[in-house]
Amino acid sequence: MTLILTLPLGMTATNCYIVADEETKDAVVIDPGDEAGKVLDAIRRNALSVKAVLLTHTHFDHIGAVGEVVAATRAPLAVHPKELPLYRAGGGAALFGLPPRRYPEPDVLIEPGRPLRYGTLTFDVLFVPGHTPGHVAFYHAPSRAVFSGDVLFQDGIGRTDFPGSSYETLMHSIRQVLFALPEETTVYPGHGPATTLGAEKRNNPFLAE
Ligand SMILES: [Zn+2]
Ligand SMILES: [Zn+2]
Repeated sequence: MTLILTLPLGMTATNCYIVADEETKDAVVIDPGDEAGKVLDAIRRNALSVKAVLLTHTHFDHIGAVGEVVAATRAPLAVHPKELPLYRAGGGAALFGLPPRRYPEPDVLIEPGRPLRYGTLTFDVLFVPGHTPGHVAFYHAPSRAVFSGDVLFQDGIGRTDFPGSSYETLMHSIRQVLFALPEETTVYPGHGPATTLGAEKRNNPFLAE
């Protein structure tokens, strides 16, 4: 069975996800946005072996604890190359009047279409830009779960009023890429509660025809 832990972290309550194989304890951490202590506690409590830290995108509220989590787990950090300018600029923290922190350089540059395999966990990578230029989503087929960052929320969509954002690109990513997954897929978004693709296809006011 797959263990999926949701940890809303920091002042924007950004969801960090820990996905683990309950038998082998292999695990990945997705978007450790803040409060590294909470992430490391959850890893320790469940006796998990973290094989990678994955970023859906690199806004500051999704990367705040990357340095501490990578240092503590020694797991490789994976980022899409189109996110690197934003990442190296501290995730846009300056736009919000926050001081930029220093972050470790990634170990792996994500290539959409090439699955990420970590121990007994495999994720398909979907390229879903629009909110940011190199935004990706991680699909875990065995648990029918997609970790989709700030692309699609319950009754909402990602913001596109940032530099480098594009509303048309975001809509294409949602309709053509995310919605190509099965309707029963659970969406684990960057903020707020989990939902399903089917529910958002039917009910999301931003996606009404
Ligand atoms: Zn974002
Ligand atoms: Zn966010």
